[in-house]
Amino acid sequence: MLATALSPEVLAKYEPVIGLEVHVQLLTATKAFCGCANQFGSAPNTNICPVCLGLPGALPVLNAKAVEFATLASLALHCEVRERSIFARKNYFYPDLPKGYQISQYDKPLAEHGWIDVPTAEGSIKRIGITRLHMEEDAGKSLHEGFADSATRTYLDLNRCGTPLIEIVSEPDIRTPDEAFEYLTRLKEILLYTGVSDCNMEEGSLRCDANVSVRLKGAPKFGTKAEVKNVNSFRFVRAALEYEIERQIEVIESGGRVAQESRLWNAGEGKTYSMRSKEQAHDYRYFPEPDLPPLIVSPEFLNHTKKKLPELPEARRARMMAEYELSLKDAYTLTASREFADRFEAAAKTARNPRRVANLLLNELGGRLKALGLEQEQSPISMAGVVLAADLLDEDKISSKQLKQLFDVCFEKGEDFSDVFERERPQQITDVSAIEAMIDQVIAANPKQVEQYSGGKKTMAGFFVGQVMKASKGQANPALLNELVTKKLDG
Ligand code: ADP
Ligand code: ZN
Ligand code: MG
Repeated sequence: MLATALSPEVLAKYEPVIGLEVHVQLLTATKAFCGCANQFGSAPNTNICPVCLGLPGALPVLNAKAVEFATLASLALHCEVRERSIFARKNYFYPDLPKGYQISQYDKPLAEHGWIDVPTAEGSIKRIGITRLHMEEDAGKSLHEGFADSATRTYLDLNRCGTPLIEIVSEPDIRTPDEAFEYLTRLKEILLYTGVSDCNMEEGSLRCDANVSVRLKGAPKFGTKAEVKNVNSFRFVRAALEYEIERQIEVIESGGRVAQESRLWNAGEGKTYSMRSKEQAHDYRYFPEPDLPPLIVSPEFLNHTKKKLPELPEARRARMMAEYELSLKDAYTLTASREFADRFEAAAKTARNPRRVANLLLNELGGRLKALGLEQEQSPISMAGVVLAADLLDEDKISSKQLKQLFDVCFEKGEDFSDVFERERPQQITDVSAIEAMIDQVIAANPKQVEQYSGGKKTMAGFFVGQVMKASKGQANPALLNELVTKKLDG
């Protein structure tokens, strides 16, 4: 929030316009154009060679796996893949870029014209266009902190030089910070499903630049945009956009003009700061990379790659909604990761009633996890535990009340369901004389109700069943209890 708060009426006059540029590191074993390990966390400057250092005479060779991953991502994002795309040199001078240029793609990117569907707050679906997806390489890293002489020196780690990236550029179709958050969430989900990246934002595998402008509602043209760089979580993207939208509206409302510039997000302060204006912006002097031939994606290769696409989140949600009778919201929860959805479905298949497994997972387990602020991975109850619980319920071996009690114990003790069930064996009391003894007590204590029953009010039996069930702490076998109560009252 800005210091000078704008009134809701003023804010409502404007419409934000947002477009996102996302860089994603590909999970290949080696780098984009050399055989160096593509690995996070190695000792500085150990995964390097003449090619990724750009030493004179060293020549790049394109990594086939990187092409496959980039193509998979393109297909998963509904892009048209270009049969012949061109690598280009993007020239700029920076210490972490030893070659003095980045190999990227420019006017002939690998893929274009894709889209992602995102759910809106109103419960409908909005399609966000993807302008392009292109391949490029990462630069190294400048280390500004953590050394005794950090005040006077900057260190370089060039391990990341040449790491294969894809850049995914959205159309300026996004209208709110929440929509931007949703777009990023869905994008990450799709990339994780296809397995092309780990999308780990802390390690920089997924990075986002957010472009944003505002215009008066109904205005025919977009306003001037600012690009917010260096935002390293989806929450921060949303916060940076919220801040930036208000800042721009305030500039306009006070008679100024929004400058076309790059801005930096400062998470500590919750503000963006001007980094460089468009006048200082780079002229990258793009030209075709002379050391690499055009990248040819043949129809055969494209078909071959299509076959490697997994069932994608959207399709999977639709199928699972039908199969397990889920709401859309519940389908989102169960498909949040491919690994989790796989584990759920594999387990559910083994259960007597797969829908019951989904139900327990979402409600009994999900509710408890949520209340404690725990992630699914931190659940004491395993998927097999949920299946066992569902089967026991299905076979009337435990009551739903007993199930709740057992789940509570699992969470109290941090133990899995099967362990707690084995130990506690919530006794279904099936011993006839034990149940009869309890019935006798209840009958003796409630002469009025007995009289009513004898007087013809047969529904009174339910009262006795309830009282005995209570006395047995929910353990009496319901079928047996019903039978014995009637027998006693009638006999
Ligand atoms: P640039 O030439 O500055 O790189 P591009 O036209 O390539 O700008 O767009 C970069 C990103 O900014 C894209 O995601 C695009 O959707 C978005 N974008 C373009 N114009 C605007 C605008 N006026 N307001 C908000 N976002 C915009
Ligand atoms: Zn190398
Ligand atoms: Mg651009």
